[in-house]
Amino acid sequence: MISRRHILGWTGALPLLAPLAASALSSACASAAGTAKSYRVDASLLSENQDSRVRNLVFHYTAVPNGLALEMLTQGQHGASAHYLVPDAALLGMSNKVYQLVPEERRAWHAGRSYWQGDRLINSSSIGIEIVNLGYPSPAEDELPLMQRQWFDFDKAQVSVVAQLAADIIARHQIPPHKVVGHSDVSPGRKVDPGPKFPWERLYRDYNIGAWPEREAVAFYLRQAPYRGDVRGLQKRLLDYGYEAPQTGTLDKESQDVVAAFQMHFRPARYDGVPDAETSAILDALLEKYFDRPRPGRAPGSKPAAPTRKDNGKGSDTWPLMP
Ligand SMILES: [Zn+2]
Repeated sequence: MISRRHILGWTGALPLLAPLAASALSSACASAAGTAKSYRVDASLLSENQDSRVRNLVFHYTAVPNGLALEMLTQGQHGASAHYLVPDAALLGMSNKVYQLVPEERRAWHAGRSYWQGDRLINSSSIGIEIVNLGYPSPAEDELPLMQRQWFDFDKAQVSVVAQLAADIIARHQIPPHKVVGHSDVSPGRKVDPGPKFPWERLYRDYNIGAWPEREAVAFYLRQAPYRGDVRGLQKRLLDYGYEAPQTGTLDKESQDVVAAFQMHFRPARYDGVPDAETSAILDALLEKYFDRPRPGRAPGSKPAAPTRKDNGKGSDTWPLMP
């Protein structure tokens, strides 16, 4: 809000406006269509209070090979796209080429019905990277429980390319670690990509990409605040981290899907959707690390908050939502 005092006391730029306004009126320019416009845009006084519209980075796997992926992500009848497509390792080995299919300032159609940290328009607020990986061998496995599917590994060379591309995007748009997510995080139950073989931990450790809990913190919460079946508390903490977790107090199908999505991301040794002590401890450790959630027995604010965007909360759509 701009205060009255602020306006009355502000004289620095006002004298500039009169000549600018006069020249704007006298120099109406022609639009592309040839009709005269009665204004011109002066972009010489840009505000310091702005940032990128891109807030999230979303990883996917294609579930189809290079050629079909390119076709499906570019041709109108499929209605899907992503900003980038990273081909499989064989094609990358031949050309080193990553495809940009949608400019970063434009909206790609990759997330569909989705939610993350209060935001339901993930397509509008994200960059999407599709990675060529078939997921699992047979569509018949769609019907199998997640743990019984034979997931394909991601090739190391391909991961290296994904990491370099992601690091560039994150730096350009100042995307915080907890907003670097998978399709399954933003659409749990509906989507399972990039799957439990996606190397989240390697991306964090080797490339400083995305969120990952500290081992010491996980051990602390396992020891000091073990999960004892408080489903409502777990649902609340999943919601606090960003997931669209039901707040029912019962472990319904939707809640299991959210837990499985969380496990595929942060505890890929077991992702059956069954809450357990380790899952809960990892969630606690992430909330402490990225949202300054105080550790039991420690005063709030005694640990510095994780670095976030330059505005550090001034933008009204940062998470947690500012009052
Ligand atoms: Zn996807």
